[in-house]
Amino acid sequence: MSSVQASRGTRDILKPEIYYWQKLESVARRILTHAVYTEIRTPAFESTELFARGIGEATDIVGKEMYSFIDRGDRSLTLRPEGTAGVVRALIEHKLYAQADVQKLWYTGAMFRYERPQAGRQRQFHQLGVEVLGSADPRADAEVIAIASDFLSELGLTELVVDLNSVGNAEDRLAYRQALVDYFTPYADRLDPDSFDRLSRNPLRILDSKHPQTQEIVQAAPSILDYLSPTSQQHFEQVKSLLTDLGIAFRIDPRLVRGLDYYTHTAFEIKSSQLGAQAAVCGGGCYDRLVAELGGPDTPAVGWAIGLERLVLLLQKLDEVKPPALDFYIISRGEQAEPKSLLVAQNIRRAGFRTELDLSGAKFDKQIKRAVTAGARYAVIIGDTEAASGNFQLKDLASGQQQSVTLLELISIASLT
Ligand code: ATP
Ligand code: MG
Repeated sequence: MSSVQASRGTRDILKPEIYYWQKLESVARRILTHAVYTEIRTPAFESTELFARGIGEATDIVGKEMYSFIDRGDRSLTLRPEGTAGVVRALIEHKLYAQADVQKLWYTGAMFRYERPQAGRQRQFHQLGVEVLGSADPRADAEVIAIASDFLSELGLTELVVDLNSVGNAEDRLAYRQALVDYFTPYADRLDPDSFDRLSRNPLRILDSKHPQTQEIVQAAPSILDYLSPTSQQHFEQVKSLLTDLGIAFRIDPRLVRGLDYYTHTAFEIKSSQLGAQAAVCGGGCYDRLVAELGGPDTPAVGWAIGLERLVLLLQKLDEVKPPALDFYIISRGEQAEPKSLLVAQNIRRAGFRTELDLSGAKFDKQIKRAVTAGARYAVIIGDTEAASGNFQLKDLASGQQQSVTLLELISIASLT
């Protein structure tokens, strides 16, 4: 591999793709700030132990996808494969639960998983996530789904579907687990090796298999919904009814179990048919056991994570996103003019206008052409004469009109039009 090539499964985000990222980041920030969720920034790496315990040994993530390494102090560390474990670690470490009963948090950042790179699947990818910690109220589940749904529709993504399920509580799953073992055992020799392995360790995981032959067998497997206790059932009914009241359409998918061990009750995914095999844009659910599992007090929780690469792929199918329009393009040529041009640019920028300074020193007509290509509203032309007099040529690039103006006049003209 060449040293001037990004590592496999990683990529650079360049113009114009970056405009899509900036758009979704600003929409996300606005929506989450409106819903009074607080941003949290946790480290990009944590102890390997945190993920092993928090995500679960039997998951693909812990079993084969982690970027783990021993640092120079002999500690085993792992680049975060997801955001929840770090957020929960922070909650416990800083006793955030003592500050308020319910914490509503959001995060965004790079995640790392050793996977086979494909469209919408990378080794370094980005997630936006929310976590509501400290509430077992079904409204918390519906609220986070509603926020995801608003975010996605605000971005113009309307063809998405919400798949919903309940995985019940630990006791419900114990009974269900046995039913799954009974069901899968006769098919044991037809399961893929991972699923065969999970038959004894964690049969629920088999439902999550992406292996075609296993998926076929999974079709007729027992449904968790038949194993829910009355309390779990009631929780699920309430979530469904809240979503219906909100006008959020959903499909029930009793095979939806999610890849992580700590999920309880509500599990959901938001999918797009436009993404091929990597259809899931958002995955989430309740994880009532995780905080206690990691040494904190019993804390019910619910959250989701959205894969931003997949979102950008979808956004690119919609309208083109452009950078904000350019107000001024500053053109200068000459010994006095060039240093002056920076001062002029800074003054116009401080007045609130988006201003590009041409640093090329090329001929005036060449710079004017660039101003037009850049889509600027005005060009400010500064030669040595203008630099000495303080009167600049202001050219309206749409009409072609040109006039001689001072800096103050130029700013007031731009403010009025
Ligand atoms: P998948 O089934 O596609 O592997 P997952 O269940 O592993 O997804 P989660 O851990 O729930 O995914 O992560 C939430 C979201 O993050 C996914 O729905 C997806 O949009 C995104 N995501 C997960 N892994 C990757 C990856 N390797 N590259 C890009 N996006 C990813
Ligand atoms: Mg995965």
